[in-house]
Amino acid sequence: MSDWGRRIPTILNSQELLDKAFHKASKVNLRGTNTLDTVKKTSLAKVSATGDILNSTLMKYVRAFPSLDKREEFYSELIDVLVGMDDLKKSLGAIGWCARRCNDLQRDYLRRIRGSKDASFIERLRREYYGRVSSVVRQIGKDLEFVGESRNKLRKLPEIDTSIPTVVIAGFPNVGKSQLIQKLSNARPAIASYPFTTKGVEIGHFEHRWRTYQIVDTPGLLDRPLEERNPIERQAILAIKYLADLIIFLLDPTETSGYSMEQQVHLLGSVSESLSGIPLIEVENKVDISDSNSSRAKISALEGLGVEELRTAIIECLSKVKEPSDP
Ligand code: GDP
Repeated sequence: MSDWGRRIPTILNSQELLDKAFHKASKVNLRGTNTLDTVKKTSLAKVSATGDILNSTLMKYVRAFPSLDKREEFYSELIDVLVGMDDLKKSLGAIGWCARRCNDLQRDYLRRIRGSKDASFIERLRREYYGRVSSVVRQIGKDLEFVGESRNKLRKLPEIDTSIPTVVIAGFPNVGKSQLIQKLSNARPAIASYPFTTKGVEIGHFEHRWRTYQIVDTPGLLDRPLEERNPIERQAILAIKYLADLIIFLLDPTETSGYSMEQQVHLLGSVSESLSGIPLIEVENKVDISDSNSSRAKISALEGLGVEELRTAIIECLSKVKEPSDP
């Protein structure tokens, strides 16, 4: 699922699609035993080629968009924000209808051509077929355009595996989220695009007893109170709800990040309210230079202090909330 957005082929508009089909058909020229036979064989082959190309191209478009099942609510939500799920389903439905219609017309005209013994009538049938498929394909012109535009937007969806137990890290900028992901991951975190933020999403992984865990930092998403967001940003943030099995809210009691503890606690309230129902661990970072005496867990993402204890807490928490993926 995670990279299907990038695998959607370029969507041709109705004129380009018809040009492609007719161009292919125009190259077909067969020889028969006499004029009637030549015209009949050639016309049958042209109608077959046109219908086949239209049907297979349109069906390829429909199949490129997977039906999103429950587990992929994260993506459904993002697709809904980006292009509108109902509109996308409607247009794909229209394209599927057109593919079937092209098929039916193909079958119908092949039968009629086969049954005719008049060369000029056969030519007329072939042109009539071209006219009818053209009109059917033009009817879905707007749908093809819409799906084409959607495809361009959906290619920017992040490649995140939604089936792996996932920790999302939240907190103001500069509190050490990126540093923590690096310390927890066993390889360099990957950066994936996220269409609602200028910065990419950072994704790290680690293994424990043959299970993979995913840690995600979402710059620009969970680092500002929700009330400052526009509706589109809000929905993009709420999509995180379907991705996160656990949230680590990172605070910086040294305030060297530039945010006061009061602001950070306010953001914590906003995040836990909007993502309610998801377990949340509050962690104070930069213990190496802080003298905080709160009861929160404390780490130094920079020096690694407390990071292994945090990993243990993550594993313990995630073992309860999600069946991890198969090894
Ligand atoms: P992010 O914006 O939340 O991802 O924060 P970064 O991970 O980029 O860290 C911001 C700054 O804080 C960087 O200069 C880090 O080196 C520093 N930093 C992160 N963790 C620690 C820590 O545990 N101790 C200290 N002293 N500095 C840290």
